Amino acid sequence: MITKNILTLPKNDNTCGWIKQLPLRRGQPPLSGKQQADWVVLGAGYTGLATARQLSILHPQARIILLEGQNAGEGSSGRNSGFLVDSILNEGHFSASGLAEYRKKYEIKHAGVLAVRQLVTELGIDCDLEASGKYHCTALKSNEKKLKNFSKLLTELELKHKIIEGEELHQRLGSSYYRMGLWTEGGIMLQPAKLARGMVENLPEQVELFENTPVLNWRKLSNSGGYQLSTPSGQVTCEKLIVTVNGFMASCGVKTNRTFPLTLTAGLTRPLTDEEDEAIGRPAAWGVLSA
Ligand SMILES: Cc1cc2nc3c(=O)[nH]c(=O)nc-3n(C[C@H](O)[C@H](O)[C@H](O)COP(=O)(O)OP(=O)(O)OC[C@H]3O[C@@H](n4cnc5c(N)ncnc54)[C@H](O)[C@@H]3O)c2cc1C
Repeated sequence: MITKNILTLPKNDNTCGWIKQLPLRRGQPPLSGKQQADWVVLGAGYTGLATARQLSILHPQARIILLEGQNAGEGSSGRNSGFLVDSILNEGHFSASGLAEYRKKYEIKHAGVLAVRQLVTELGIDCDLEASGKYHCTALKSNEKKLKNFSKLLTELELKHKIIEGEELHQRLGSSYYRMGLWTEGGIMLQPAKLARGMVENLPEQVELFENTPVLNWRKLSNSGGYQLSTPSGQVTCEKLIVTVNGFMASCGVKTNRTFPLTLTAGLTRPLTDEEDEAIGRPAAWGVLSA
């Protein structure tokens, strides 16, 4: 029987600007003692929170335990840039198969965006959602071709978009930094930590969340076919285990040759003052992605 030992994270550093905007929340206590469940979901980011919610719909009688090593929803899910995108910049897949492949991926992402919108509405989550589309912009002449090719692709797929340059771009963004932008209608901006917090606070009653409960190791039980997971002050045995730990997949001994951690950083500035907003022409909310 093989036991997978897991490298766990240090304590949350509490420096995320998005999370600092939220009211303080008393987390759920860590798991203690020996527990038995039908399902364990390991990791409470967007993926784990959504998985646990969906399991409760599919298996209304099951005991579902959600384990989180830190505070639920405060990993990448509470710290990202808040773009929900359905199309991604592509310099042109013009072969029939390339276009079909792109369309398929677009449809999956589009369904994801709709699912988030539906969840936000259904649960009444206030997460500053702005369905303002998104911009792909460049300050370099050499990148303009990329945007023009992307525009051709979007035209083939009949997706609403527009290439914007010069004064119009300046006015829309309140900045003359970029030379060219491509705006797509599909795309939502939101405050990511508010979305994650809303998903945590609206978990179905059937889902039992244990926070500050890093899983230190797990093993497959040869007799029952289930799993046993150990945490600092408890143990849980379950029939089915779903691992939703994002970049920690490999360190959990899952798909070790298929996943790797990727580190991204982002910064949050102070809000503009009223005078500053006035000086740049009070543009509507926007999000720019690089070309
Ligand atoms: C700076 C930045 C900007 C980004 N911008 C965007 C963007 O604009 N749009 C977009 O779509 N995506 C963006 N992303 C990516 C996006 O944030 C992630 O893809 C998404 O949050 C992943 O969610 P998840 O639930 O899969 O993983 P996470 O949110 O990482 O959740 C995994 C959870 O597992 C827990 N865990 C790990 N190991 C253990 C263990 N042993 N025991 C218990 N718990 C454990 C972690 O504590 C964590 O809470 C960005 C990411 C970053 C970092």
